[in-house]
Amino acid sequence: MSSKPSLATVNKPIQFIDLAAQQALIRDKIDAAITRVLNHGNYIMGKEVAEFEKGLSAFCGAKHSISCANGTDALGLVLMAKDVKPGDAIFVPSFTFAATAEVVAWVGAHPVFIDVLPDTFNMDPESLKQGIEAAIAKGLKPTGIVPVDLFGQPADYDAIEAIAAQHDMWVMCDSAQGFGGTYKGRKVGTIGLVTATSFFPAKPLGCYGDGGAVFTNDDELANILESLRVHGKGTEKYDNVRIGMNGRLDTIQAAILIEKLAIFGQEIEDRNRVASRYNAGLADCLTTPVVMEGCTSVWAQYTLTAQSAEQRASIMSKLKERGIPTNIYYPKPLHQQTAYKSYLTATGGALPVCEEMAQKVFSLPMHPYLDDASVDMVIEAVKASV
Ligand SMILES: *Cc1c(COP(=O)(O)O)cnc(C)c1O
Repeated sequence: MSSKPSLATVNKPIQFIDLAAQQALIRDKIDAAITRVLNHGNYIMGKEVAEFEKGLSAFCGAKHSISCANGTDALGLVLMAKDVKPGDAIFVPSFTFAATAEVVAWVGAHPVFIDVLPDTFNMDPESLKQGIEAAIAKGLKPTGIVPVDLFGQPADYDAIEAIAAQHDMWVMCDSAQGFGGTYKGRKVGTIGLVTATSFFPAKPLGCYGDGGAVFTNDDELANILESLRVHGKGTEKYDNVRIGMNGRLDTIQAAILIEKLAIFGQEIEDRNRVASRYNAGLADCLTTPVVMEGCTSVWAQYTLTAQSAEQRASIMSKLKERGIPTNIYYPKPLHQQTAYKSYLTATGGALPVCEEMAQKVFSLPMHPYLDDASVDMVIEAVKASV
């Protein structure tokens, strides 16, 4: 079978994310993979789990790939492994999904919210410096930085890692949206001390349920993570050596992910085809997303910036009338959300870029199975709605 996806026709309604088109392409393989698991019956830590982890390492170049139950657990397992505790400050962007900061609060540590850059939507290194000073002034210990590879593009790791080194901090990449991307020749999964990703169905590499993984080149950290995901197990089954959790990936999800990983390279190419076509078609009518020099995105979202909240609302409603779905990621930065309001921000108050982006951004349909004619239809509709 050709690795090129069968392309949708223009007459089909345009999906924001088309999981059905992907499934149609590999349905036979998925059915066979699930059947194999049903036949051997090892639903927990069956051989597909290790096989998938091997595939992940081969794909991204990380020495260790440790699969787990979801992306939130992936982040949380690392904080547990690094013994993050009350009094520690962990620096996270405010313009992200809640899980990035949630796990910091899980372990009783203090998330410090950092502003983002308006062109890439990722952590602003200058704001990070400010946040570190603010944390120190509050008596917190700067411990770790969790940049997010928002919408599929790696954060500015050269700048962030230099700041981390100055303060003897580690970097965990929250690449729930960015697995498959690259930063100046480095693949996501090999950047920072450790990387967490998610296989939630709508992520670029998604399963048919919950799933996640942690990547690292650090042998000791990998050992601790493997122990933590199975209740802190030691070498003897009934002598647990640390407090862990049940954080395993199901065998069935691993079996599905093996088949999805096999077409992921082609899908990333197709995501980039769609993004390039959007960029070319829309650059002169709205602010299109910027990918940094020497970096690549996997386009978890294709996100435009409108001139105002009013313009965004008007464009989105006109697109809806034409049957074109759009979404806002994210309408409220974390530092303004009820559960997170009491935590520190880099400025001690407002994070102007996060707050502005929350008012102005919206995302267009983005998936590898959008054919050029459909992309052109979306472009024309956006142009007519501005
Ligand atoms: C999806 C996501 C997560 C959480 O992943 P789950 O698998 O849903 O737990 C964490 N961080 C970011 C940035 C995400 O987009």
